[in-house]
Amino acid sequence: MNSVPHTIPLTPVSELVSWADSLELAVLYEPRSNRVLEVNRAFARKFGQPGPTWVGHDFSALLHPEDMRDWTEAGARLARPPFHISRDHRWQTAQGWRWIAWEETAVRDAEGELRGVRSIGRDVTKHRLAEEHFRKLAQAVEQAPVSIVLTTPGGTPQYVNSRFSEVTGYTLEEIFERQIPLLREGHPSEAAYRHFCTLVASGHKWSGELCSRRKDGSEVWELVQVSPIRNQLDEITYLLCLREDITERKGLEDRLRQAQKMESLGTLAGGIAHDFNNIISIIRGFTELSRELPPGDARLDRYLGAVHSAALRATSLVSQILSFSRKSEVAYRAVQINTMVDELTEMFQETFPRDVELRRELDDSIEAFAADPDQIRQVLLNLCVNARDAMPTGGTLTIATGRITGQEIAALKVDPTQDYVHIRVADTGIGMVQEVRTRIFEPFFTTKQEHGGTGLGLAVVYGIVANHQGVIDLESTPGEGTIFHVYLPLKARAEERFAVGVHPGPIQLPPGKESVLLVEDESSIQDILGSVLKNAGYQVKAALDGAEAIEAILAAKGHWDIVVLDLNMPRLGGMEVIKVLRERWPQVPVLIITGNMNATIKDELKALGQDHVMEKPFDLSEFGRVLRSLLDARSVP
Ligand code: ADP
Ligand code: MG
Repeated sequence: MNSVPHTIPLTPVSELVSWADSLELAVLYEPRSNRVLEVNRAFARKFGQPGPTWVGHDFSALLHPEDMRDWTEAGARLARPPFHISRDHRWQTAQGWRWIAWEETAVRDAEGELRGVRSIGRDVTKHRLAEEHFRKLAQAVEQAPVSIVLTTPGGTPQYVNSRFSEVTGYTLEEIFERQIPLLREGHPSEAAYRHFCTLVASGHKWSGELCSRRKDGSEVWELVQVSPIRNQLDEITYLLCLREDITERKGLEDRLRQAQKMESLGTLAGGIAHDFNNIISIIRGFTELSRELPPGDARLDRYLGAVHSAALRATSLVSQILSFSRKSEVAYRAVQINTMVDELTEMFQETFPRDVELRRELDDSIEAFAADPDQIRQVLLNLCVNARDAMPTGGTLTIATGRITGQEIAALKVDPTQDYVHIRVADTGIGMVQEVRTRIFEPFFTTKQEHGGTGLGLAVVYGIVANHQGVIDLESTPGEGTIFHVYLPLKARAEERFAVGVHPGPIQLPPGKESVLLVEDESSIQDILGSVLKNAGYQVKAALDGAEAIEAILAAKGHWDIVVLDLNMPRLGGMEVIKVLRERWPQVPVLIITGNMNATIKDELKALGQDHVMEKPFDLSEFGRVLRSLLDARSVP
């Protein structure tokens, strides 16, 4: 302490604060050297060293190195009026680094020379940390990668962060100015918005996907979450709205759905072509029959009716095909689920391997409900195609419909007050192990790499079901099979259906009295062929599939003059029938009628020595001629 002359008129620190007991730190020091002249007890305690030992020490050594420059610069101001400064910095104390705020006053001698500094300090660490914390929070909110909006409980915007302005193009000022109802935006209907308001007002969280418009008019899809914020009195003071821009993901979803449609189209193109061929056969058959009739014949009307309904069926087929290639949002229309299942099973009957047996368990009491028919059809298709793939060696595919209350499936987190349509697609296939099961809904997850699996089917199913506010669930046992359950809200809508029906009629073929076993599962075609054959004098027995055909063959001990045979049939296909005949009654001629010819089938037929094939649609007279020539060839020894 020798360096500071005692001539300095220092006011003792003890006069500045109640020296002994003060919680405030006090120090008197020499400004150039920062050497301590005097400290109080609080100071000594804070810095962990008895008061007297401080005297003569440069206490700035305790300053945080990063703060040193700032501290020195601020100190220089003490030499100028008003000879008073406040500064806070970090100091090394007995409790570690602490923020201390100093109020400092210059002590000058008679000549105005700066002789000392009186400093009164407070530990403001808590305050500083809170401030720091607040600043960090504010920065985090402001710079968050999601949009954040704060509104009053009534929905008046109070704050939007910069991400919000970036995404929407609106600043808070513009929102105020234009009175944009931020929370109302994007809800699809007034009712949906009111539901949202009631929920939030009663203190619940709400989340959903909303589509709103940016300032430039473009669409933005956001995952929105709104939660009420409460004060200490538990009153809702603000609504916090977090919005994540998912426009890109939505685009991806759309593209996935599109890709999947193309895949399904490919898979089913054969089946659709086949269906068309059958329809064309019907149209050609009945027009030919009509041309044979004398003018004014009463049957004409019936035949035209059959042509007309076949045309209607073609129209519906076309719209199905279009539904695959069109890009579609959820377009709610009346869906007749049972009719849809019937139509699809018909298509599957043609396209799926014959060893996959199709079963339907349909609840007739289900009324039409509101859904997007194209998308629901796609769900069924994808599930059934997967079921088929899961049964490489055959099995049973069951499609069932039913209704169920939300309460019964409350475990799936559905709306318990709502009724649901329950669609069940079950197979007796390979099933899934746990590792597969947990990943099946992931886009691009597939276990069918070698077989051209895309891994999109179930991802698309999932997306569609979710878009309909439905849920999907499954049970699967390796080696036993899989059951998918789809639950869709049963929202009532007006009925909508179209009629499909065909009437048979006669036409003249080259006559004959021989017995014909007519095996064809498409009843309209069976009707036409059956009638024209009977009219020409043949004895016809009809069988609806391979199993029935074999029964009929065995019952007659092979005494059929000819067998007319479709290839693609449920239960047992035509190929099996040929095998039985070739083995036991090789002399019986077989005329194949099919709409689904390909190289593999051709080879298979060739190997069986079978070369009489008529591809649908065919001309009835042509059919009669071929049939006749086969019968005639047979009687020639
Ligand atoms: P992909 O059929 O192209 O592989 P999906 O998304 O339709 O793609 O299915 C994903 C995977 O889920 C399949 O590869 C298969 O492993 C599994 N899977 C789907 N349905 C069934 C089922 N019915 N039985 C067994 N496994 C199934
Ligand atoms: Mg699939």
